[in-house]
Amino acid sequence: MDLYEYQGKRYLARFGIPVGRGTIADTVDAAVAASDELGYPVVLKAQVKTGGRGKASGVRVAADPAEAASHAEAILGLVIKGHTVRRLWVETAAEIAHEYYVGFALDRAAKLHLAMVSARGGIDIEDVAEKDPGAIARLEINPLDGLSASDAQTLTSAAGIGAEAREGVTDVISRLYRCYIEGDADLVEINPLIVTTTGEVRALDAKVTLDDEAAFRHPEWSEFAEAEPDDPRELAARAKGLSYVSLDGSVGIIANGAGLAMSTLDVVSQAGGAAANFLDIGGAADAEAMTDALEVVNSDTKVRAILVNVFGGIVRCDDVARGVLDALGRVQLASPIVVRLDGTHAAAAHALLEPHLSDRLVMAPTMLAAAQRAVELAAGAGR
Ligand code: GDP
Ligand code: MN
Repeated sequence: MDLYEYQGKRYLARFGIPVGRGTIADTVDAAVAASDELGYPVVLKAQVKTGGRGKASGVRVAADPAEAASHAEAILGLVIKGHTVRRLWVETAAEIAHEYYVGFALDRAAKLHLAMVSARGGIDIEDVAEKDPGAIARLEINPLDGLSASDAQTLTSAAGIGAEAREGVTDVISRLYRCYIEGDADLVEINPLIVTTTGEVRALDAKVTLDDEAAFRHPEWSEFAEAEPDDPRELAARAKGLSYVSLDGSVGIIANGAGLAMSTLDVVSQAGGAAANFLDIGGAADAEAMTDALEVVNSDTKVRAILVNVFGGIVRCDDVARGVLDALGRVQLASPIVVRLDGTHAAAAHALLEPHLSDRLVMAPTMLAAAQRAVELAAGAGR
């Protein structure tokens, strides 16, 4: 489970990592009231579960109430990488002297934890990682040994953190490791970790992914799970037991199984298109699940074509075909739909669909052909 920034900061704070004071606001008025209460300058930050908010103008500093109002107005409703902003985190603005990066993640291949620290944090960390990987100090950590105080110091020096922040950053590294281990996270990242002009070190951002397998020993996590997702379609899909993720392209994807759904994303991009979502209907590709899935994807106005990619293993393709036809009778689709069905009883499925084919319902023999057709339709179609 990914946490929103404000939840992530609350999580970091439990382990003694300094974070700013702030409030959640979901209207312009609430944002201004929160800003007045905190005292200016404040920073208004889009709460969406994706990075790159700064570059998308989803993070803005306000010096007075008028500015807070206009920034809140501008950020609420903004779409960042397919996520619509419905809530803001309003925090006392920091005066930044330097931005650093600190993170821990699981290195599955090495079966070790990986620490990463850099003196060049901030919104361009991906560029740093790509063009100047040496600027990121790394340390593999054996979970049985843990991270010692001297390991934390080594990381701070190897990253070239300046003397003014060395002690504070080392302390945050040790605390963040505890948060990662005792907090049962798969990923914790602070970017930027800053030192202020007055020498205070604090986390300005937080990315925390909790390990869902550990939920049984964290009853307190229910507060995070209950927080509303930022996309109403994700909420609708979750209520129907479907796994849905919003993306920013124009091809709506419905597939059975997460692996196939991910491959479908790849093939759509190979065909020159981009997926509008990731929707896994799981094992039950029956009429009910197909109707639910089509309703969710159809409600997304970014979608210009829908690609249904189902491989029949246990599920029979003819059942899926019946499901698609039944669903088409119930849902008025705004976009054409391309269906690729292969596997168990595929021939029977094709025979069922054949009489209903049109320029709105297209069948394709392979995953690539289906993706190409869907991308063409998405490019050509008006909605
Ligand atoms: P991200 O772009 O989604 O990672 O969002 P961040 O929370 O990391 O914010 C992006 C950038 O906004 C940071 O790297 C800072 O440069 C800037 N920023 C965030 N909070 C503050 C603040 O309190 N004061 C100032 N001056 N800049 C801030
Ligand atoms: Mn950040």
